[in-house]
Amino acid sequence: MNTEKVKCLIIGSGPAGYTAAIYIGRANLSPVLYEGLQPGGQLTITTEVENFPGYPEGIGGTQLMDDLRAQAERFGVEIRTGIVTKVDFSERPYKITIDDEKELLAETVIISTGASAKYLGLEDEQKYAGMGVSACATCDGFFYRKKTVAVVGGGDTACEEAIYLASLAKQVYLIVRKPYLRASQIMQERVMNHPKIQVLFEHNATGLFGENGVEGVHLVKRKGEADEEHYDIAIDGFFLAIGHKPNSDVFKPWIETDEVGYILTEEGTPRTKVPGVFAAGDVADPHYRQAITAAGSGCKAAIEAERFLSANGLL
Ligand code: NDP
Repeated sequence: MNTEKVKCLIIGSGPAGYTAAIYIGRANLSPVLYEGLQPGGQLTITTEVENFPGYPEGIGGTQLMDDLRAQAERFGVEIRTGIVTKVDFSERPYKITIDDEKELLAETVIISTGASAKYLGLEDEQKYAGMGVSACATCDGFFYRKKTVAVVGGGDTACEEAIYLASLAKQVYLIVRKPYLRASQIMQERVMNHPKIQVLFEHNATGLFGENGVEGVHLVKRKGEADEEHYDIAIDGFFLAIGHKPNSDVFKPWIETDEVGYILTEEGTPRTKVPGVFAAGDVADPHYRQAITAAGSGCKAAIEAERFLSANGLL
């Protein structure tokens, strides 16, 4: 197998990965960054980003990621396409296999592989991607001021997103497949008592419709029961809040995660239990999941990696 040595390997190309790359690149440490399956990460599937500091007019998600990439390249970061298929963190330098065909020996590793929002799996979710379908209310809610939206899910995220959207939208439907919410009691109460939120228990969304974007959702009430009912409601936005899956599977034999798969790090730092291996961005963040918090943690991981290399005489 083709083998190569690197001082710092960055895995993932969202705001965390690129920010880490900018810092490591500027420190003259020639980092190598692998982009993964979705170059640019989750921001490339949103439309406009209006809450990343420094852009008073907002910026397109893809443009922001292109700019971060260009900034990383300016400092000599080598950006490559490839998927990590295996890791061996048993001893340093750590072995990382790319696409089952290339092996890297890395003194430090920054894992910034992000998390993927779960979707229902409807064809229409693809069809209307960026045209009314979103998995992030904080990112896209602003576009639905005084409009009608639906949120799918019955957990804390769905309730939080419904409440956030209700502060902007005219009406929010919460589509819940069970006859009860799974969310914490306090969130349930807030949702149930909110004048702008209507909870549709025992409902499943089966499709979307609209000419130039989402105009409505097809619903089934009490699916599979004798009194099953089909009807449509008019909406402008369709938000998924049925959970996220951190992209951490390949690291699990070596790295501690919580039960959902979020990588566990030392409180307030990107340090994992494996010396020289750091985790940044959404893969280690079940709480904030914002581009700016991911970028901040990417910066922390880079500084940690540089200090680790220095402390081990590897600069
Ligand atoms: P959860 O796994 O808690 O909830 C997912 C929800 O989506 C459930 O209601 C589930 O339904 C529903 N769902 C899943 N798949 C489908 C599907 N295919 N069709 C329809 N509905 C579906 O995920 P969350 O993201 O809400 O929360 C993750 C963790 O983060 C939880 O521990 C939560 O408590 C925590 N969290 C805490 C917050 C806070 O404290 N402020 C805020 C946000 C999250 P069902 O119940 O039927 O399985």
